Amino acid sequence: MNNKIDILSMTIEELSDLMLSIDEKKFRSKQIYQWLHEKRVCSFNEMTNLPKVLQDKLEEKCNITKLNKIRQVKSKDGTIKYLFELNDHNVVESVLMSYKHGNSVCISSQVGCRMGCKFCASTIGGLERQLLVSEMLGQVYEINRLSGKKISNIVVMGTGEPLDNYNVLIKFIEIINSKEGMNIGARNITVSTCGIIDKIYELAEENLQITLAISLHAPNNTIRKTLMPVANIYDYEQLINACKDYIDKTKRRITFEYSLVRGVNDSKECALELSKVLKGMLCHVNLIPVNEISERNYRHSNKDSIYRFRDVLENNKITTTIRRELGGDINAACGQLRRTYNKK
Ligand code: SAH
Repeated sequence: MNNKIDILSMTIEELSDLMLSIDEKKFRSKQIYQWLHEKRVCSFNEMTNLPKVLQDKLEEKCNITKLNKIRQVKSKDGTIKYLFELNDHNVVESVLMSYKHGNSVCISSQVGCRMGCKFCASTIGGLERQLLVSEMLGQVYEINRLSGKKISNIVVMGTGEPLDNYNVLIKFIEIINSKEGMNIGARNITVSTCGIIDKIYELAEENLQITLAISLHAPNNTIRKTLMPVANIYDYEQLINACKDYIDKTKRRITFEYSLVRGVNDSKECALELSKVLKGMLCHVNLIPVNEISERNYRHSNKDSIYRFRDVLENNKITTTIRRELGGDINAACGQLRRTYNKK
């Protein structure tokens, strides 16, 4: 990496400070910001309403992060998975999913992950490094550029734990949500977490209208610990309390993700126990048959167990969906493409 300023990571306020520090007028910050985030140009000489002197100054001091697509795989159902190379040659993966209601991009928040969930391919090599704001934005901008599709939804559900890269995540949301940027409504942004309790409390205070998804995957801490090492640090009951606080403060419905693993968390008893935990909460459960990865021998639940699980929850008035599996034929599940690439 060079030592230039990572200008794509800057908010308008930070750009204003930058302008003042290089003896330029403050109003330039908004122009530059729009070029970067609304028109999404890749070079300073395309910023035609800036004087040439300023273009040159920016060129000398700053760098516009751009991700380099090294692989693109399209599934039969239209889902496209992208593998991007960063400036330091690390790779991240992102997915474009097309639904009737619009196009959704799933992005990574870290290179690798240190949360250690047993069924997840992203965490096997541990955490390599945090992503920059510009690298999170870059995944969305590049997919928009490559596909030519308007992006209406963002899910931060790719590789990494977004609440383990908290400040970057918050800045990413601010920029992608801004009117002078891509202007993606907060309600169309979902952040998925394995449940870092103190950060959930902090997020509740940010006053954002985003959707929070919690990777719960178990009806109690004993089972959760077998799948998710974070359960050793973050107690189940305390996690549920943090979720209740989040709902209270934001009035937003939480999504609980529950990957069904055969013989581990998919029994009728598990469904009944989960119903008791979630009863009365403003929430929604998303059931996902676990995606089998070659490094682990977890099997996904059979159809009968999946439907039985859903029926128990619905009988207890908990709204439940079974996730439509997209991109199964292209290893679109967390971290699989990056992992296959890195192995080579
Ligand atoms: N770290 C965040 C976001 C990334 S993982 C989190 O834990 O939520 C995104 C979602 O995919 C999580 O719910 C995660 O538990 C789930 N997931 C990961 N690997 C999976 C697999 N092999 N099958 C099904 N779901 C998986």
